[in-house]
Amino acid sequence: MLGIGLVNGSLALAMRREGLADEIVACARTEATLDKAKALGLADRTTTAPAEAVRGADLVVIGTPVGAYGAVARAMAPGLSPEAIVTDVGSIKAEAIRAVVPHLPEPGRFVAAHPVAGTEHSGPEAAFATLFERRHCILTPIEDTDPEVVRIVAGMWRAAGSTVETMTPEHHDRVLAITSHLPHLIAYTIVATVADLENHLQAEVLRYAAGGFTDFTRIAASDPVMWRDVFLHNREAVLEMLGRFTEDLAALQRAIRWGEGDKLEDLFTRTRTIRRGVIAEGQAYDRHVLADEARREGADGADAGGDS
Ligand code: NAP
Repeated sequence: MLGIGLVNGSLALAMRREGLADEIVACARTEATLDKAKALGLADRTTTAPAEAVRGADLVVIGTPVGAYGAVARAMAPGLSPEAIVTDVGSIKAEAIRAVVPHLPEPGRFVAAHPVAGTEHSGPEAAFATLFERRHCILTPIEDTDPEVVRIVAGMWRAAGSTVETMTPEHHDRVLAITSHLPHLIAYTIVATVADLENHLQAEVLRYAAGGFTDFTRIAASDPVMWRDVFLHNREAVLEMLGRFTEDLAALQRAIRWGEGDKLEDLFTRTRTIRRGVIAEGQAYDRHVLADEARREGADGADAGGDS
């Protein structure tokens, strides 16, 4: 595990629960993080040296902020066996792949992955084994990726409780720009706007904060370094979605200014339908996961769940 925070720590716990690893080695920048990881049972062995961490490993999972990927991949390379499978958990994919692949002895043994699961907490102490249950994990193989590697990594995520999808890295980054990155940007902005209000007004906002604003503060409490890296490394897709959003916001502003109640009502009626669609999709997803589980149980362990 290169990086042992919320995501890699949770994966380590899920792998232990499923008996997927004989030994888990954790690597981080600081001894303080490694001490916590060891105390919490996330790792058997720890080191601050990436090359030492990956020596003899069958599977390497990169789980640092994406901005550190190039340096981490370069540092691990001298210890990496050509047979080792390499994967990651980063929230963006195209740049992540570009940063890692040049340092690998066997690029075909690498498949990038994004478990679409998380919380606003970070560090090893935030890890929990059920983080990935009933969540999607998106794999983004490229042309060179060995299908066997995809199968094994997919098996690991299924064992952790996720449903696995595959798509191109670019498609992943566009989809996540609108479903995850833009909402985070909006939350950061609204909370920052409140932070800039005059003191008396700010105190009142905090006192009377109801559902909407409180939800935004939770999202805006997400890890600053991770989210800095998401925006810096998914720049094109985020700017495209932000452009569309800004246009829509300007149209709404205009409708309010000109008292165009019909336009507002139409829009709010459309968005209500979307909410119903999201709920229905969630229910369909739950049915899909249950069916997937039943199929795997019926497959007599033939799924790749135990392979990694
Ligand atoms: P986290 O809890 O903050 O843990 C990050 C880990 O990476 C720590 O062990 C940290 O070690 C290490 N690290 C940080 N900067 C580093 C650097 N420059 N060089 C080497 N190691 C470094 O982070 P996380 O929330 O698990 O996120 C990890 C990855 O998962 C990110 O790429 C993120 O995009 C992705 N992800 C996050 C979420 C989420 O909701 N949080 C969801 C899905 C995917 P030290 O503590 O010693 O610095």
